[in-house]
Amino acid sequence: MNAYIETFGCQMNERDSEILAHLLGRAAYQQTSTIDDADLVLINTCSIRGKAEQKAMSLLGRLAIRKKKEPRLKIVVAGCVAQQEGQRIIDRVPQTDLVIGPQEIYRLPEYLDKVVRSGKSLVANDLVDRFKIPDLGHVSPAPAASRFLTIMQGCNNFCTYCIVPYTRGRETSRPVADITAEARKMIDSGTSEITLLGQNVNSYGLDRGEENAFPTLLRRVASLPGLRRLRFTTSNPKDLSPTLMACFRDLDNLCPWFHLPVQSGSDRVLRRMNRKYSRREYLDRVAGLRDACPEIAITTDIIVGFPGEEEPDFADTMRLVQTVGYHSAYSFKYSPRPGTVAAGFDGMIEEEEKSRRLALLQSRQNEITLAVNRGYEGGEVEVLVEGTGRDPGQWRGHSRHNVVVNFTADAPVAVGDYCRVRVVQGCMNSLRGEKI
Ligand code: SF4
Repeated sequence: MNAYIETFGCQMNERDSEILAHLLGRAAYQQTSTIDDADLVLINTCSIRGKAEQKAMSLLGRLAIRKKKEPRLKIVVAGCVAQQEGQRIIDRVPQTDLVIGPQEIYRLPEYLDKVVRSGKSLVANDLVDRFKIPDLGHVSPAPAASRFLTIMQGCNNFCTYCIVPYTRGRETSRPVADITAEARKMIDSGTSEITLLGQNVNSYGLDRGEENAFPTLLRRVASLPGLRRLRFTTSNPKDLSPTLMACFRDLDNLCPWFHLPVQSGSDRVLRRMNRKYSRREYLDRVAGLRDACPEIAITTDIIVGFPGEEEPDFADTMRLVQTVGYHSAYSFKYSPRPGTVAAGFDGMIEEEEKSRRLALLQSRQNEITLAVNRGYEGGEVEVLVEGTGRDPGQWRGHSRHNVVVNFTADAPVAVGDYCRVRVVQGCMNSLRGEKI
């Protein structure tokens, strides 16, 4: 039997989809990349913004129509929308067989068996506080040069716009031994770059009452033989400690890249978002990172049009972007999410005005990113090869600063190779170069 997985959203969802594919394999499903060949389709959903949810639900609608002609087709909805909506998904689309929340994915074979035996749809989206992420050491999909490794799940921060605490529960950190065992297994299978994942990795271990456990974990993983590159994402700036900054000074294989979502440059808006840091504190932490690692590449997330955001607040965000000089930024219009505090706030901004602000912000950031990428011209970067590039004879990979590099090479290279590349041109979202 064939299974097809459609993944929406963040890297956590990508890693969950790897785990789901492994578990489907244990239920005798082979992975197919062609949805029409599938006997089971699993939609791993994202609820961070309305658009992501709509995309998943419209795919579900199309599958429901197909199932009328193919009644044996199994339809599974997983991820954050599954957690948020639960039974409502089956009420809306009765052709759905299983709705499974992020904490329940590890029991997928068991739930699928229940669905098949009973012939009835099933919702499994319990959310428990002291959830324990099972040992995933055995989950090893096809070897890859670069891999994600989940170290924790959930979040306790309750930023007023964010659905994650409601869909992924309270912070729960995996045991260090499970993480290092899984990392070692990945390295043994040919992985040389690992990205540690969590909604707020900086608070790793706090659920066990351990302060500064994340820098300690980083040093443990960084010391594993054969690990050439280490990264992590995502961080809440409020928990960015000098101990963590020092890791960038001390650990050679910790890549000089830090994703530090700011969300807004206005103190008034940061308070309404419940982000628990001020603009000043954020800039001080950026300065601290740059002291520890002057070449560090900083990227961020920004929301425009948050309820109550006035023109001076938006101007603060534009100024902050100019001040920090991010390598790049993911920026979005505020999207009210069901059950979040901000969805009930007054001062909602018109869609048109949100679009105007987003366009201004993105054009400013594009100028900065292009200038940063042009700054690499004539210099050298180390590239981890990930595949062939856009043009014939071109290869693609990413640098230690996590910038995409397309380059030419006289002699063939292989995926997983590390190449020195001379940068010929800095482009909007990538660098162009020649292998040295
Ligand atoms: S820290 Fe991140 S995941 Fe947690 S509530 Fe805030 S935005 Fe959401």
